[in-house]
Amino acid sequence: MDNKTDQSISLRQINTLMIANRGEIASRIIRTCKAMGIRSVAVFSDADRDAPFVAQADVAVHIGGSNPADSYLDMAKLIAVAKRTETDAIHPGYGFLSENVKFAELCAKEDILFVGPNPEAIAAMGSKSRAKSLMMKHEVPVVPGYQGEDQTVERLTAAAEEIGFPVLLKATAGGGGKGMRIVHEAGEIQSAIEAAKRESMSAFGDDELIVEKYIASGRHIEFQIFGDKHGNAIHILERECSIQRRYQKVIEESPSPVMDEELRERMGAAAVNAAKALSYDNAGTVEFIFDDKSRDFYFLEVNTRLQVEHPVTEEVTGLDLVQMQIQSAMGLPLSLMQEEVLGEGYAIECRLYAEDASNDFLPVTGRIERFEVPEVEGLRVESAIESGSEISIFYDPMIAKIIVWDMNRLAAHTKMRYVLKNLVCLGMTTNQDFLLQLLEHPDFTSGNYDTHFIQKKIDLSELSQTRLGSEQMACVAATVYDWQQREQSRTVLRSLPSGWRNSFNDYQQTNYQVGDKEYQTKYRYQDGKFHFFVDTVELPVQLISSGEAQIRLQIVDQQYKFTVVKNGDRHYLHNETTGNVALKQVPRFPELQTEKAEGGYESPMPSQIIKVLVEAGQRVKSGDGLVILSSMKMENTIEADKDGIVEEVYASEGANVEAGFLLLKMKEAQNA
Ligand code: ADP
Ligand code: ADP
Ligand code: MG
Repeated sequence: MDNKTDQSISLRQINTLMIANRGEIASRIIRTCKAMGIRSVAVFSDADRDAPFVAQADVAVHIGGSNPADSYLDMAKLIAVAKRTETDAIHPGYGFLSENVKFAELCAKEDILFVGPNPEAIAAMGSKSRAKSLMMKHEVPVVPGYQGEDQTVERLTAAAEEIGFPVLLKATAGGGGKGMRIVHEAGEIQSAIEAAKRESMSAFGDDELIVEKYIASGRHIEFQIFGDKHGNAIHILERECSIQRRYQKVIEESPSPVMDEELRERMGAAAVNAAKALSYDNAGTVEFIFDDKSRDFYFLEVNTRLQVEHPVTEEVTGLDLVQMQIQSAMGLPLSLMQEEVLGEGYAIECRLYAEDASNDFLPVTGRIERFEVPEVEGLRVESAIESGSEISIFYDPMIAKIIVWDMNRLAAHTKMRYVLKNLVCLGMTTNQDFLLQLLEHPDFTSGNYDTHFIQKKIDLSELSQTRLGSEQMACVAATVYDWQQREQSRTVLRSLPSGWRNSFNDYQQTNYQVGDKEYQTKYRYQDGKFHFFVDTVELPVQLISSGEAQIRLQIVDQQYKFTVVKNGDRHYLHNETTGNVALKQVPRFPELQTEKAEGGYESPMPSQIIKVLVEAGQRVKSGDGLVILSSMKMENTIEADKDGIVEEVYASEGANVEAGFLLLKMKEAQNA
């Protein structure tokens, strides 16, 4: 049997496809275009001029400034470029305009195919309350809660009491893990509702909330759905995405460790119901929260786009979801039936982020000096970058997605750990070692976890404690690396080895700082060998070989390959055993400490200033918001840490500032 075909649906050819997106997903879409013989058009902002996806596309057009509003979100510009390049279809990727009804409608109006579902489906799922109400009508179980029109504090409070604590308040217009608040008891509910409304208004321009039962030990399990314009809809198995921080995914896998055929049948049927309720005609994801104890599941939302973690599904099914999206958009019927959807083996994806797990997962910016992927069978890396790429404040901090397939979970995890140990990504702080820590946790291995796994089970202080001896080894490697660099650039006194001293007993000394520890590193070079002391540890070292950004050392009896990059007074090193180590050279003469401004509030990271909430002379209370900053899609409100009076404001709205920028100064209030 075949899928049904509606003869009234006309087929549209796609010769040229424009990607209204950037980074790894733009590269991913271009790859499928090439496979299908479709001409690809990339658009790019100032910041992306040198990005790999721009070079990969057949046509690349600059569309404006680095702020998304001036480029990737500028609908008029995108349409103009589409016209100019004879674009037949636009793929929006994920994020940006992918779930924007207006953009989907505009494409239709301009007679350009939008590679995504029909605008009505996007609109219906754009509001969490409308989505839930619709799903309830179509026998899709939803989280018990309130999604009514009466938005008074009284009604919402009453709803919370009926549902029973803990409850979760969600912004109806929310997304990306933003605008959610857990309320544990009745005493907190009123102020929580007020705060959630304020937050939602400032983030989404709308203060409507829904109230939901908070599922304390829930797992995030989602189903890939697919539909076509002929009325066919299927699901393409599940992905488990419970490993989250800040309600956002870090690791995704398929199949889920808790899945069995009976549960897959039930959840899959609910997902297909959801698709049918929406006359769904492209790729989408139905997200559920699964209660570990009762094995009940509840609808959370539908993401009406290609998902970040779609490769996991591709790896277990062998399907190309981007190709299927393009075919559905052209008007072709789905090429496979539900019974033909078969998973084989197991796949896992880790999101490599430029962020500091030991500092509340705050994103970091910088330059990736070196990016090298180990050669492993069954490894797929979807990356936005190459050696030398910048991670800027304008876009999200994802560096790459690392995907591994194998016959089963155990084998794939072994491989993933190997990849995480051997992947080189140097130049800035990343979550690479954190990912490894997750993969090494016995509860993750056994599949015994929920959405609170990171919060409850991972000791982030362990991250700063590198393996025994690895910091000392890194000090040695950095020192030999510098020695080698000097050797190579030396033109005079060729016959004298670098670090040569009149007296052979003199040692060269460099001190390095690692985290808050300092290591005194001394060495002497004699007869082709180094003799090191790191503090009191004595180490015989030989330089075996060196290459670009690489040295091979023998320390005592074992050989180690280090990848080394240097940036100013910092060395970033990677080795399979030591992991990533960043060293800062301690100056020989102490630096003048810059005094931290008294009563000063600084930007904790490079950011854009979204809103200045106070003015000079204003009296504020501890906990009041002062300035709202945005960096890499994350908003951050700087709050007063004590009562006082604003003395001076240096922050101006719209400005891009560096980490440590003095935003404003406060003085103590003189109480009368
Ligand atoms: P997914 O659900 O596809 O796995 P996430 O849940 O992490 O991905 O994020 C959903 C999508 O929304 C991603 O494309 C992400 O880039 C985007 N996103 C996240 N936060 C925001 C935001 N504040 N504004 C716009 N897009 C966002
Ligand atoms: P977003 O649109 O921001 O992705 P979701 O509704 O998909 O919002 O929820 C994001 C995450 O928040 C989920 O993956 C889950 O971890 C958690 N979550 C959402 N609703 C609940 C709930 N009712 N109980 C417990 N956790 C929840
Ligand atoms: Mg979600």
